[in-house]
This record gives sequence, C-alpha cells and structure tokens, in this order.
Amino acid sequence: MIRERGKVSIVGAGPGDPELITLKAIRAIENAEVVLYDYLVNKELLGYCKPDCQIVYVGKKNKQHTYPQEEINKMLIEFGLSGKKIARLKGGDPFVFGRGAEEILGLQEHDIEFEVIPGITAGVAVPGAAGIPVTLRNVASSVAFFTGHQCENHKTEIQWDKIAAGIDTLVFYMGVAQAPRIVRNLMANGRKPETPVAMIRWGTLPEQEVMKGTLENIVAKMEQHDFKPPAIFIVGEVVAYSEQLSPLINQMAKTEI
Ligand code: SAH
Repeated sequence: MIRERGKVSIVGAGPGDPELITLKAIRAIENAEVVLYDYLVNKELLGYCKPDCQIVYVGKKNKQHTYPQEEINKMLIEFGLSGKKIARLKGGDPFVFGRGAEEILGLQEHDIEFEVIPGITAGVAVPGAAGIPVTLRNVASSVAFFTGHQCENHKTEIQWDKIAAGIDTLVFYMGVAQAPRIVRNLMANGRKPETPVAMIRWGTLPEQEVMKGTLENIVAKMEQHDFKPPAIFIVGEVVAYSEQLSPLINQMAKTEI
C-alpha cells in the first residue's frame, strides 16, 4: 500500500477556553495521527484525538526547562518524513509569539507539506473576556502587541520612546517577570503614572484572575499578591472602561484582585 504523504498542520489552539478554537483546528486534531502540544494548550482539546493518535507533550519538561525549539523542529521533521498527519497545537495563534514560522522553515527545508490554521490570540481574547476592549472609539484607535521576553537582538529591542507616547493600548505577552522594567521604561518615556493597567492571569478560563491598577502601583500590587504567570499585561485608558462593560459582557466567573 502506498502511504499518503505526510502533512503538518500548525494549529492555533486559542487562548485557553476549549470552546475558543476554530472548527478547522478541531478537524485537524480529529484527523491527526500525531499531535504535538504546548504547555498553554487546553488538555481538554486532546479529547478530539483519534483513539490511536500518538500524543506528544512538548511543553515544559520539568519546572523550569522548556523543550529546546531545535528539538521540536527535529521531531516535526521526523514525523513529517514518516508520512503521518500531524497536528502541531500551539496556544493562541501560531504566529503571535508562537515560533510557528521557525517550525515551518524546518519543514520547508525537507519538502514536507504543511498548512497554517490561525487561532484566537491571547492578547485580544484575554482582555476581551475580562471586559476590556483593546480599541475603543474616541479612546483608543491604536493597539500594539509586545513580548516581555526579548531576545538578545538589538534589532528587535522595543523602542520605548516611540511606543510610550505613540500607541494608545499596549499589550504585553510574557510580561509578569519583566513588569518592573516595562513600567519603568513606559513612565521614563512619558506615559503618565496614573495610566490604568491590568494583569490578567489564565484569561478565558474558570481560574481567571484580573488585577487592576496603574502604571505606578501595579508592581507593588503584584508583589503583594505574589502574582504569577501566565498573564497578559494591558496598559491604556481602555482598562478604565471595563468597569462599564464587564457587567454587560457577563463572562464566566472571574476573580478580581
Ligand atoms: N501564541 C500565543 C502566545 C504565546 S506566548 C497567542 O497567540 O496567544 C505565551 C504568553 O501568552 C503567556 O506568557 C501569556 O503572556 C500569554 N497567554 C497565553 N494564554 C493566556 C491566558 N489564557 N491568560 C493570560 N495570558 C495568556
């Protein structure tokens, strides 16, 4: 029997709530012979796997260490060359701080077929589920997404002077450990200390926690509550509007700290 050629679907699994995934993503999981999934992918989604699907966890190896990206790339290539149908499940959207492009480069080098299935990214969905709109008429007409963890590459260093003054809503992924630096840089470059901010942990999930404050006091609040990742840090006047919107949106139970 001639096997069909392998194919890798790079799949966005959404921000956490297992219903916030696309139909296309579910279909890719259902058809997969191998699923590789990350730390932030909701494990309930593995319920869509075929009974004989090979499920591989490539998230945190133990407390601190994550799988090296090269190792994941290698695994994808090996599975791809074996002719299998693979779903590579990634939290949120694969191309938003998700290293999806790096994985595709490896596949292309080996002529392995792939597709990209976009997902709902945490930077929009997590504030949204907490009643914070990332843009708002007459309040915020621009939004930008940043990573708190930057590579040692000056080309991609955040230009704090430009963003502090030039963008209405700033959304930081992976910003918990770096919050003191982020806040310092924004204030040093002219963003007002009283700017409203929110840290949202495990957004869209029942364990969601929302901590609101200002640029000036959020770090002290985080220390006081021993606030831990994963969280989205959102900075801008839109945060103040959530008071009006969240009762209307009436999302799942959330703890406000
Ligand atoms: N590709 C993903 C982002 C990967 S980076 C996406 O598009 O959403 C991982 C970071 O995303 C976490 O450190 C955190 O900052 C954020 N994140 C992902 N899911 C989250 C959630 N449910 N609640 C809060 N932050 C989340």
